[in-house]
This record gives sequence, structure tokens and C-alpha cells, in this order.
Amino acid sequence: MKGKKGMIKGFRQIKEAMDKTASLLKMKAGENKLIRILIPTSEVTAAWEHVEQIGGFWKTIECLGKKDCPICKAGRNASFKTYLPVLDIAEDKVKIFKASKDVVKALIAFEEEYGDLTKIDLKVIRLGEGLKTTYQFFKKDGSKIDLDEYQDQIPAPETLIEQLTKEEIENLLDGVTEDTKEPDYGNEYDDPF
Ligand SMILES: [Zn+2]
Repeated sequence: MKGKKGMIKGFRQIKEAMDKTASLLKMKAGENKLIRILIPTSEVTAAWEHVEQIGGFWKTIECLGKKDCPICKAGRNASFKTYLPVLDIAEDKVKIFKASKDVVKALIAFEEEYGDLTKIDLKVIRLGEGLKTTYQFFKKDGSKIDLDEYQDQIPAPETLIEQLTKEEIENLLDGVTEDTKEPDYGNEYDDPF
């Protein structure tokens, strides 16, 4: 069961898990935020992901590649995302900025211009919505931040994306199809409490 994390036990752990899912950097069109990238760009991870609502829950699942991936075969597009751990300076909270290819290109240009991105604050502005979303970045002088203080709040990459086998994804998709066809409340996934 590669990638399965199993049940989460205890309110404290459940809250931690909920906090993790809530830790994406979210901005509305026109909004801006001051952020600091928390790790060297050489350590940032990226993946092809599917974000799908399955059985009433949003799931982020790693794409297995067009040839093998059951979600791609169902006609859904995967998107390439870089998981950038950032400090939301106003909220003093660690968040994950899921960066598109264009955002990464912009940040590479910034790194070439200004060097180590963990040493400068970035003002990020979101423009537009949906597929027309773009982000603009502006360099701000780095405020005094002890980055070490935040390292243990950065979620591990494997908590941001579910790495499932082809069979596990197929079962997930099959489960949903069966549920919508014929609700079976004896089924563990349908347990209504
Ligand atoms: Zn896929």
C-alpha cells in the first residue's frame, strides 16, 4: 500500500492534518501578500497532480503519466505544480504556494537577478481568475525573519499529494461510480455514522 497514510487518530493529530490541508496560500484576484520563501530553491519539489473531487472530498493525486494514469484516461488534465513553502508574513503562518510553470519561470528570473530568494521578501499580486490567473512579483527588502524558527512547520511533500498505485486510483474511481449508481450503506466508504 505505497503512499497510504492510513487512519489519523486523536483530535490533536486530526487538527494537525486539517491544518495541513488548510495551509495552501490562497489569494483572491487583485489581492496581494508579502511572503518569504522558506527553503533554498534547490530543495523545492514539484509533481504532476490531479485535483479531483472524489466521493465528496477534494483529493490531490499524483499523476502516473498519460500512458498509465486512470484519471488522465478519464479525460482529466494533470497540472504541473511546484510546492513552494512560504511564510505568509502578515499572518506569521507557513503556507504552501502551489506554483505554476509561469510562476516558477518568474521566480527563476528573480533568483538570477537577486540571488538567494530566502533572503528577500516578495510581494505577490494575484491578477485574474481561473485559467486566466497570473501572479506578479516585486522584490521587497528582507525583513528580519529567523527562518529556522519555521522549518518544522513546513509540511512534508508527501502530505501534499497522494501517491497511489494505478490499482488504488482505479478502485477510488470505481468506488465513486458504483456509489452513484447504487448506494450500498453496508459499504465501509458509505458508513453514515
Ligand atoms: Zn494523470
